[in-house]
Amino acid sequence: MLPGVPLSDLRKVADRASQMLVNVRESMLAPHPRKKSPVFTTSQVAALCRVERKKVIYSWDKPELGLPPGIANNRTREFSLAETRVWIDKLGPFIKRPDGTKGKKIAIGNFKGGVAKTTTAMTLAQGLSLHGRRVLIIDLDPQASLTALTGTLADSEVEEEQTVLPLIYGEEDDVKYAIQPTYWDGVDLIAASAALFSAEFYLPFKQSKDPHFEFWNVLNKGLEPVLEEYDVVIIDTPPALSYMTINAFMAADALIVPTPPSALDYASSTQFWNLFADLADNMKGLVPDVEQKRYDFIHVLLSKVDSSLASTHAVRDWINRTYESFVLPIEIPTTTVTASAAAEFGTVYDISKYDGSNRTYQRAREAYDRFAEMIDQELVALWQAQKESA
Ligand code: ADP
Ligand code: MG
Repeated sequence: MLPGVPLSDLRKVADRASQMLVNVRESMLAPHPRKKSPVFTTSQVAALCRVERKKVIYSWDKPELGLPPGIANNRTREFSLAETRVWIDKLGPFIKRPDGTKGKKIAIGNFKGGVAKTTTAMTLAQGLSLHGRRVLIIDLDPQASLTALTGTLADSEVEEEQTVLPLIYGEEDDVKYAIQPTYWDGVDLIAASAALFSAEFYLPFKQSKDPHFEFWNVLNKGLEPVLEEYDVVIIDTPPALSYMTINAFMAADALIVPTPPSALDYASSTQFWNLFADLADNMKGLVPDVEQKRYDFIHVLLSKVDSSLASTHAVRDWINRTYESFVLPIEIPTTTVTASAAAEFGTVYDISKYDGSNRTYQRAREAYDRFAEMIDQELVALWQAQKESA
């Protein structure tokens, strides 16, 4: 045989490339009906309910308990996410939101891109849903990364009517029209698309025409009627102090600011707090009763923490000294789990079985779980305080 690559080999490579692209697109860009939530084993259901495995096995033989039996597979059983959430609801130790209290709105913000805002929004939604909560996620970023994480492609699959735009334009009074279920039981979505950019022109235009208009209050008013239905509303914002971001921050009961401990991200986070403080001052001129606004909590979440870098420790120290009690005691490590190609359109919670090192997966998963657990406990405390003061 002659050495080298014959031209006839090119066709084979081209065919393989085409086939690969089809496969990759199917696995990475799987649109809404194709993206699937993971299934859970008996042990996983027990862990999520915080009970022993024996208790789960004992309970599925008791039809009077009304617990879904899952699907038997040889000697093991598998539970869908929806079934698992019924188990969590009935067996889990989580205190339910008391009647008469409303869902809490949490905005995720930072004017820098790439700090894990969207990842934080999605993982927190998934984590809270595994505490039995009903969660609404709102994508306010025209880049629509959160929408993509639910398996929906903003360009081809999102209509304007599925975004907040009709609310912004005053065609709708509340956001109910825009809510759609996702592949993840317990998490509903208000999607984003590039069309959201137009809000940045419309809101100041409307304000200039109508002095009684409150450009900062549109989202807040539109969310009010759905707060009975959801325990938590998580709002993902674009990496800019846009009119949409202002709406998110003014609607929010609480803020989470993901901040990686890198020098550049630290530097831009200081700008975030300056601009945010300027915004608060400016709002005082516009809305005298903005003084009444209180955040239930503001958390700086150390994200994408790479402890193998020497600089991480120094910058973490700056962050602690700057933001003091705002800094959460939990941090999210950098992980190859979320960065791997197959998971690009998913999070740690989407992975049933991780092919890489299991320890890497466990470490990441535990960090996200602890974060969700901590926020969940804060929400319960806030509801209880609300109930007592009512
Ligand atoms: P933002 O919304 O602030 O722009 P993203 O959540 O989209 O940030 O995250 C930016 C990039 O960082 C994404 O590619 C995401 O997969 C990656 N990322 C987020 N969290 C982690 C993590 N803990 N480890 C590694 N990569 C991460
Ligand atoms: Mg984002």
